[in-house]
Amino acid sequence: SLPRNEGQRVQCYSETLEEQQRHRLKVQNALRGATKRGEMSLVFQPKLSLKTLRITGAEALLRWKHPEMGHLSPGLFIPLAEASGDILAIGEWVLEQSLLQAVTWQQRPWVSDDFHIAVNVAARQLARPHFAQKLLKRMAEHQVPHRLISIEVTESGLMQDMANARHQLAQLKEAGISVAIDDFGTGHSSLAYLKTLPISTLKIDRAFVMDLEDSDTDRELARTITQLAHAVNCDVVAEGIETAAQAAYLRSIGCEIAQGYFYSRPLPADDFAHWCAHWAPDASSPSTPTTP
Ligand code: C2E
Ligand code: MG
Ligand code: MG
Ligand code: MG
Repeated sequence: SLPRNEGQRVQCYSETLEEQQRHRLKVQNALRGATKRGEMSLVFQPKLSLKTLRITGAEALLRWKHPEMGHLSPGLFIPLAEASGDILAIGEWVLEQSLLQAVTWQQRPWVSDDFHIAVNVAARQLARPHFAQKLLKRMAEHQVPHRLISIEVTESGLMQDMANARHQLAQLKEAGISVAIDDFGTGHSSLAYLKTLPISTLKIDRAFVMDLEDSDTDRELARTITQLAHAVNCDVVAEGIETAAQAAYLRSIGCEIAQGYFYSRPLPADDFAHWCAHWAPDASSPSTPTTP
């Protein structure tokens, strides 16, 4: 199922398989060169400390507005771009834009010592020779302090070529760039890798967060994932928090970082900066955000 986001195209269930197939092909063709034509942009979603509600960073998320098809969901086009290989060029663009944004924001008063922009990196990007080395080179060129950038990779992204992943992640860690496992628990995971890969964060997928209020099982799963993360010295980010009750529960089980519509939707860069500048958490009731 597609995540429903800000005004994005919602899959229409009456579409026939053939229509879906045709649409996919059209999207796949339109992907090539979309960044060069200026159709792509990044939005930024705040990450906050569940304990203090301080801003600890942002996740950079890709948006695509095609001149005819309109807004297309990353849930649709990212897998197509991964399949076609276009994700390599797109991913380069995402990294470049994220570095430029980090440079622009680095002196802002709301950029704390631990603030970082988290960039999603696809399996095929990580699999490229010298991924880490090239990223570090580019950061040096733009004079981006390493701590301002982190990356998110999925479990499948790590499993495809574990030896290479270990090699790339070790270089990033050495340079002070932290790595999160995205959508944790939704892929074909092997817990063994947690022990051996240099990872600093696990992101609990929205699938485990959305029904926390109604499901004993999901509460138990979220708690277990958090304990597992702590057992391997990782911090925990919960994504897709939409209610105060979800935030309160996640805080009570020791989850460190929160992300979700409850705090803010992903925002264009200027709106994100404005949101951060006006973010005034009520310290007396840390689960209650005050909308700027
Ligand atoms: P993800 O990395 O797990 O990102 C979180 C997704 O959850 C985002 O969807 C975000 O907008 C959405 N989300 C955040 N909070 C909430 C909430 O409270 N409720 C709901 N319903 N959704 C929430 P988005 O932006 O549609 O991206 C979907 C996926 O596409 C991402 O999942 C990521 O896997 C991929 N993606 C997005 N941008 C990039 C990119 O630049 N590169 C790569 N390789 N993948 C990307
Ligand atoms: Mg992510
Ligand atoms: Mg995620
Ligand atoms: Mg997810």
